[in-house]
Amino acid sequence: MIEAQRLEKHFGAVTAVREVSLRAPDARITGLLGPNGAGKSTTLRMLYTVLVPDRGDALIDGHSAVHAPLAARARLGVLPHGAGIYPNLTARENILYFGALQGLGAAARRARAAELLKLLEMEEFADRPARGFSQGERLRTALARALVHRPRNLVLDEPTNGLDVMAVRALRRLLQQLRDAGHCVLFSSHVMQEVSALCDEVVVIAHGRVLEQGTPEEIRARTGSGSLEEAFVRLIATAEG
Ligand code: ADP
Ligand code: MG
Repeated sequence: MIEAQRLEKHFGAVTAVREVSLRAPDARITGLLGPNGAGKSTTLRMLYTVLVPDRGDALIDGHSAVHAPLAARARLGVLPHGAGIYPNLTARENILYFGALQGLGAAARRARAAELLKLLEMEEFADRPARGFSQGERLRTALARALVHRPRNLVLDEPTNGLDVMAVRALRRLLQQLRDAGHCVLFSSHVMQEVSALCDEVVVIAHGRVLEQGTPEEIRARTGSGSLEEAFVRLIATAEG
């Protein structure tokens, strides 16, 4: 489980994130939904410990991102915005390399790589250099890498950006499988349809503030809207004043 507690981040005069509290439970897919510039990436980067908050904290399975970043990080798999993979390494080598960085021994990372290549249906292209990969193959390689240390929690920053339809469908299936296996999945998106198609829980963010969070049904009901899309439009319009 991931819990953000009144996270705040300023860049000079810009307040990117203001008192953001959110909860992403286990066995749920949680969507962080907001327009460009809303503070999604800044929030996620504080959760996965590459950015230190000015105020507030985040707990990853109870471990503080601020005070125990290594323990927090060990429980997280991360797919950063525009995640790059090493083009000269094969898919398998990309996974093995990250396994080594995570401290897995040689036999353990070989076994884990084989397991992930099977789980993500990557065996066909496992031993080709990543250079020539399709978007979907690149995404699966990046995901396998993020999952190499069996993290309980998975954070993805706009994972569907630039993906074709087939790759998006494969990603959805995978996130659902992880959710059904009990993992906490938190991803950001600026695409309403993306979030409504996939999420059990939604956190709406704009101008660095959380405007609403709950199930799509709860958010619809609370905003008196007929659909999540209508609720989203109303919330954003209200926030713009
Ligand atoms: P999102 O991911 O929702 O598009 P971001 O978290 O990237 O939003 O950005 C939120 C705000 O913070 C934006 O106004 C952005 O310009 C600003 N911002 C983000 N990162 C930096 C940075 N490193 N330096 C200065 N401003 C930043
Ligand atoms: Mg972003």
